[in-house]
Amino acid sequence: MRRISILGATGSIGTSTLDLIERAPDDFAVVALTANRDVSALAAAAIRTRARFAAVADAACLPALREALAGTGIEAGGGVEAVCEAARMPADWTMSAIVGCAGLGPTLAAIEGGRTVVIANKEPLVSAGEVILAAAARSGATLLPADSEHNAIFQCMDSARPERVRRIILTASGGPFRDWSREAMAAVTPEQAVAHPNWSMGAKISIDSATLMNKGLELIEAARLFPVAAHAIEVIVHRQSVIHSMVEYVDGSILAQLGPSDMRVPIAHTLAWPDRMETPMAPLDFAAIGRFDFEAPDPDRFPALRLAREALDAGGARPAILNAANEIAVAAFLERRIGFLEIAAIVEDTLASYDPPAPHDVDAVLAIDGEARRNAAARVKDCVA
Ligand code: NAD
Ligand code: MG
Repeated sequence: MRRISILGATGSIGTSTLDLIERAPDDFAVVALTANRDVSALAAAAIRTRARFAAVADAACLPALREALAGTGIEAGGGVEAVCEAARMPADWTMSAIVGCAGLGPTLAAIEGGRTVVIANKEPLVSAGEVILAAAARSGATLLPADSEHNAIFQCMDSARPERVRRIILTASGGPFRDWSREAMAAVTPEQAVAHPNWSMGAKISIDSATLMNKGLELIEAARLFPVAAHAIEVIVHRQSVIHSMVEYVDGSILAQLGPSDMRVPIAHTLAWPDRMETPMAPLDFAAIGRFDFEAPDPDRFPALRLAREALDAGGARPAILNAANEIAVAAFLERRIGFLEIAAIVEDTLASYDPPAPHDVDAVLAIDGEARRNAAARVKDCVA
């Protein structure tokens, strides 16, 4: 029986994780579940799984959560500190699946407990990679990647020799606009951008997939998680999303991990690791897939990937600024305040406007994150005006 907690239990990754553990009730016991404000989904999941604790990040939602859990014996909490408290409760396996840098504090709280923490929430790793890895080294926590590409790389590296890796090849679907001109992209709506051809995901990561910023964040994520030089990590567009990434060794041998485009596959890998567990996925039908295509990403139509590469190479505060400006710009696009192409433009302008020193602790990361958000928000206002 493994004790499980899920940070961001009501989102796309959270519900996929719940689906897997609810199929194997004898193997998993739920300790804590958290959400931002989705009280009804959180309470329902907590009641179904007999969780001990449920917390909403938005403290204003606590009375509603208390009411929804009345008489169940499940404790309710509200506010960011309650979410961190949920992350600190003893559990064997914690899923970090809050969206954005808002997940940094709770993820660190889980890591400080020294247990297995599964990272879906990539933004904190981008902004505060050094701080997170240092915390894991101190506490002895095991970090397992849930992001499909990084999980694929982990599986291809797991039994081999990381020092003999020549190249990591991150695959990208290319998103819904991979064949569109920039002129056509200028007019896309949030609905078009959220409709991903291969994956069903939360709104923010869906927009990131459409701009290719998701692949940029993943490039930085890969550089944090695996002992490979940044220049040895390449991105290739593979529109079928069947090969989830590849690892090339010095002898020219390349290992790939393949599977259906369903996040339950990589999540199940982390849930059972180092064992394997069954999932409800149908076997891949290669004859129906027919072919694998590969093409280089187009830097002119998708500048976000270049911005992320530059931020990774420059290091220091750059990845945190990139991420924070992107979070603001994506939110503004979803609110229809700016156009699709302005997302990357705002990130680029924010990065160009200043260059603070490298952060070495959480407070310094949060200060950079906050300033980049204010800076990017001012640029959003300029676009709207
Ligand atoms: P989502 O928007 O569907 O869910 C986000 C979850 O976080 C929800 O439970 C929400 O209530 C909670 N949340 C939102 N804001 C919060 C805040 N300020 N404080 C506390 N909790 C908050 O997002 P998702 O698609 O599940 O993605 C979650 C993370 O996993 C992201 O970092 C994303 O990049 C990463 N990821 C997602 C997928 C995917 O297929 N969805 C794949 C790989 C990586
Ligand atoms: Mg991914």
